[in-house]
Amino acid sequence: MSLQIYINGQFFSKEDAKISVYDHGLLYGDGVFEGLRAYSGKVFRLQQHIDRLYESARAIMLEIPMTMDALSAAVNETVAKNSLQDAYIRLVVTRGSGALGLDPNKTSNPQIIIIADSITLYPAEFYEKGMAIITASTIRNHPAALSPRIKSLNYLNNILAKIEGLQAGCVEALMLNHKGEVAECTGDNIFIVKDGVLKTPPTDAGILEGITRNAVIDLAREHGIPCIETAMTRHDVIVADECFLTGSAAEVIPVVKVDSRSIGDGQVGPISKKLQSAFKKMVRM
Ligand code: PMP
Repeated sequence: MSLQIYINGQFFSKEDAKISVYDHGLLYGDGVFEGLRAYSGKVFRLQQHIDRLYESARAIMLEIPMTMDALSAAVNETVAKNSLQDAYIRLVVTRGSGALGLDPNKTSNPQIIIIADSITLYPAEFYEKGMAIITASTIRNHPAALSPRIKSLNYLNNILAKIEGLQAGCVEALMLNHKGEVAECTGDNIFIVKDGVLKTPPTDAGILEGITRNAVIDLAREHGIPCIETAMTRHDVIVADECFLTGSAAEVIPVVKVDSRSIGDGQVGPISKKLQSAFKKMVRM
């Protein structure tokens, strides 16, 4: 049986899951989304993703025509319907279809879409040996233009940086903010370790407040690893002892090179390894 996709309370096979070409999600990137994971059939931190989705929607003045509880149930139902144990889940809410033109008042029927599928973001060897990234020249959206805290269907900012990474032979790229500080990568948050202290940019650095990021901060505290949210520069990443990225799709992935410079001794460091395995354990509990 082909994958069953949820659209507005109904399931459609992958081939038949379609929405209007007049949907403002397509025409203008007007909508919000979440990327979640299920492990052993259970969705990881579902409530936090639902909360963030509704916050993103509130920020763009999009009313999701469903209660949070009903949407959570729909996510679980989609995973169960496809008999998935480990899955990547894409939850999308578009502005809905309407007349051409930006005016959201001319749309109706926001489309609620849930896709539960598999995802392989990065090659397996990167998890063991670490990967190389570059710093993109494309800066992260200015928070006063489009707040990076909104997980909107407008991902061009990140895609442009991703293209720079790919052209340099890297699958991920570091993005600085409008102040020149480290923000995050194109689809992942960033952590460094320096002198035994774990550091990550604060939310006001213009980042998406990652759910994996927050889980890793919790894990660090549980393991007695000092952890601070602090502004950092590209130089701090270059001279870090360790570096890793976090994201729902990526989980915890070590970085051993930035802009052709080895980080630390160029090997995956002990704190990265510890948090990587602690995270694996946590999601499978
Ligand atoms: N930053 C950006 C820009 C992202 O798109 C994502 C999600 N892919 C993350 C960080 C990580 O967030 P989370 O851990 O909630 O998946």
